[in-house]
Amino acid sequence: MHLIAKSMAQLDALSILLVGATLLACGSGGLVVVRLSNRRLRGLGWLGGAFAAGGFGALLYAVGNLPPFVDAVVADVSVLLAFALVHVAILEMRRAKSLIPVLGLVLLGLQALSSGLQAFVFHSTRGRVVAIGLLVALQVGDTGVLLVRGVRGTVRMPAWFIAAILFGFMGINLFRSFALLFLPFFRIRSHAVALQTATFLVFLATALGIAFGFFWMTTAELSNELEKMASIDSLTKIFNRRVFREWCDKEMARSSRTGTTFSILMMDLDHFKQINDEFGHLAGDQVLCAMVGRMKDSVREIDIVARWGGEEFVALLPGASLGDALQVAQRVRANVEVPLDWAVHQQETREMRITVSVGVAAYRGGGDSLDDVFHRADAALYLAKAAGRNRALTMV
Ligand code: GH3
Ligand code: MG
Ligand code: MG
Repeated sequence: MHLIAKSMAQLDALSILLVGATLLACGSGGLVVVRLSNRRLRGLGWLGGAFAAGGFGALLYAVGNLPPFVDAVVADVSVLLAFALVHVAILEMRRAKSLIPVLGLVLLGLQALSSGLQAFVFHSTRGRVVAIGLLVALQVGDTGVLLVRGVRGTVRMPAWFIAAILFGFMGINLFRSFALLFLPFFRIRSHAVALQTATFLVFLATALGIAFGFFWMTTAELSNELEKMASIDSLTKIFNRRVFREWCDKEMARSSRTGTTFSILMMDLDHFKQINDEFGHLAGDQVLCAMVGRMKDSVREIDIVARWGGEEFVALLPGASLGDALQVAQRVRANVEVPLDWAVHQQETREMRITVSVGVAAYRGGGDSLDDVFHRADAALYLAKAAGRNRALTMV
């Protein structure tokens, strides 16, 4: 302990603060530029603001011999503001409705009050340091909790990484306040100085760690978004053909392993070209979405409805036999058939009649392949169209 305190005391706090302020200023500029270059990178701008506030605080501490108001209130508030802005950055990243850091604002008010009182009334540096330690600990603890609450998927690791850094920093701040208050060891001035220098170093390391964690988290979020964009049909917001094939592959593997079956529906809206011709392409788009709603309402929660392309849709019915699937197909057909009141103008509503033809096929086990199942469903759909449309058929 003595050795650590001795070597820390030999470190030059002023240089650390100046180097720190420069690094934070550069980091701040870089983060803001990155954010401005791509508006999808949420949170990085606020993090840049946090770095600027932290750097400014460090600079003021380094300059020293400033009027008491600047030295105490402005510098302390800047440092706490830096952590409140980290909180805002995470709120923005999480697409929170409000970016106002409620606890942060309360703590900032308390900080200004406490620093002012200590500087002008009690003239106690120790009291000031204890107070800022406690308030920073509260703020970073709150941000750590925000980060890990409800976090899922690939963002989980970087979120926990940043939270671990924040919780660590919270612990160090609590320890510092406790040590200054209760441990006689830190009543010795050189030891208190050593503790302060160590805190500056940890502060810088924390800032670097947070920046790294943010880039990690942003990359994870972007890759999630890309994955989603590549899987979801942009008009109807259901899975596309690629993901549907993947689900079918999984179901096929499961069925051949467990000896169960599954079924596929291929659904093609009848004479849809006429709907476009009569009501316009935009109306056609909305009708497609409405019909997807009806299809989803006609199947179970575990069934998957996807867009095969154009006005063609598919459904995967895990565990459903051919008979079950034919019943579901009839339900889809009947639901789609219900007339739709379409507002052509504000005063004029016309009845739109949509129908769908459905091809049904079930996995037969043995040497039956997924392509065979799709082929039978497609052939059945062709048959349904040829037989006059608005019907659900299967190949025998
Ligand atoms: P059939 O009963 O034989 O299936 O007749 P159909 O008119 O539905 O079939 P066809 O293949 O001739 O035409 C499909 C129509 O679906 C033409 C195309 O404009 C329309 N369509 C495909 N995708 C979309 C879309 O995303 N939005 C709109 N509005 N129309 C679409
Ligand atoms: Mg078609
Ligand atoms: Mg069609």
